[in-house]
Amino acid sequence: MSENELREMLVMLGKSLFERGYSVGTAGNISVRLDDGFLMTPTNSSLGRLDADSISKLDRNWNHIGGDKPTKEVFLHRAMLETRPQEGAVVHLHSTYATAMSCLTTQDQRQAPMPALTPYFIMRVGRALPVVPYFRPGDPGMEESIRSVASTHRALLLANHGPVIAGATLESAVNAAEELEESARLAFVLKDHPVNELSEDDINDLLETFG
Ligand code: ZN
Repeated sequence: MSENELREMLVMLGKSLFERGYSVGTAGNISVRLDDGFLMTPTNSSLGRLDADSISKLDRNWNHIGGDKPTKEVFLHRAMLETRPQEGAVVHLHSTYATAMSCLTTQDQRQAPMPALTPYFIMRVGRALPVVPYFRPGDPGMEESIRSVASTHRALLLANHGPVIAGATLESAVNAAEELEESARLAFVLKDHPVNELSEDDINDLLETFG
């Protein structure tokens, strides 16, 4: 896909996420890997009103070379895309249910209490959802913390902040972010009900079959 096609797709998918409530105000940001660098949503921009020509462009060393100034959370995308060279895009949202899950007190604060409810969560997001400890917005310490879990996980939650998820393509990263949000919503909806979780065998079978 050409850079211009990716810019158009970023505008279209950002608008779609915004219109369906996955992002409000100027929350959330998206990055895409190019042959010669990266595209990134601009700082203080709304995913619902992106302009293809104003999308930030960074070179391979993350220097800003075109468009508006990039999101202040650029380091979060850098941590994911450098640690996971197989991925082509990263989506970060403050979507309601995944963010709610990032605020829960749990026995193991490093792991989100996400039950294995549907095969689609396992296929698109993965077996486990690590939680990176809370950092003040802009604190560079967050980057190292993300790097420490990103090599083994496509998706993670930033504590008291929101989800970060990578995908091989822009479209698959957006699909995975939606799947993660809906899975978190299911987990809250079912919280007081007995549920049949997928077994270890079911999960292994899914991961072997669908990678
Ligand atoms: Zn954020």
